[in-house]
Amino acid sequence: MLKRSKNQSPDTNYQKEREQMVESQLARRGIKDKRVLDAMRQVPRHLFIPDDMRGLAYCDGPLPIGQGQTISQPYIVALMTELLELTGQEKVLELGTGSGYQAAILSHLAHQVYSVERHATLAQQAEKVLAQLGYTNVVIKVGDGTLGWPEYSPYEAIIVTAGAPDVPHPLTEQLADGGRLVAPVGSQWSQVLVKVRCQGDLLTRERLTPVAFVPLVGEYGWKE
Ligand code: SAH
Repeated sequence: MLKRSKNQSPDTNYQKEREQMVESQLARRGIKDKRVLDAMRQVPRHLFIPDDMRGLAYCDGPLPIGQGQTISQPYIVALMTELLELTGQEKVLELGTGSGYQAAILSHLAHQVYSVERHATLAQQAEKVLAQLGYTNVVIKVGDGTLGWPEYSPYEAIIVTAGAPDVPHPLTEQLADGGRLVAPVGSQWSQVLVKVRCQGDLLTRERLTPVAFVPLVGEYGWKE
């Protein structure tokens, strides 16, 4: 017969799962930025996921979040975040708030996060979770992120979390000198992670790794 220890309490905060996720999915695959690994250790990913799927929150893959959208695989979140080279001083623009999870990670690593989401219901839900968790340096707006958010530009870092036919040009215009932009660019079904760096008048572009994101829909993205 199995005996249950009286002191055994369920790990309702999923601390152990998070630790395992960081070790086996991130560190082992080459994510090195300590600040990124720490943020991934701290943000309760399960709270950004619909109730009935909480148990899958720390699995090695994307998950549905409603409105036909998905929260990215933890590894992809970590990789894109690492590519932004954040030190804590930056203003960051995110396109595609979705669940708000990526914004929460950025919130730990940058000074201020601006995030744009086209689905009002997702934006509201993300806002609610971020407020409940006490994040105060994330501002969310409902709208077409392909236009950027000129009001607060320039940004030292821009992250696009939906697949685009090409990097929307309003975004490169809103990138600070020395700034980094990371975006999945390709077809509606598969893309390559692209990193753009702005150096004076010059934009350098690196193609990194194949990825699959939901489409970026908007004026400088895919048409509806
Ligand atoms: N970063 C999110 C995942 C995003 S999924 C997270 O951490 O959960 C991609 C999101 O981009 C979806 O929520 C989708 O509605 C949004 N999106 C697509 N096109 C957009 C656009 N033009 N502007 C803003 N958001 C957009």
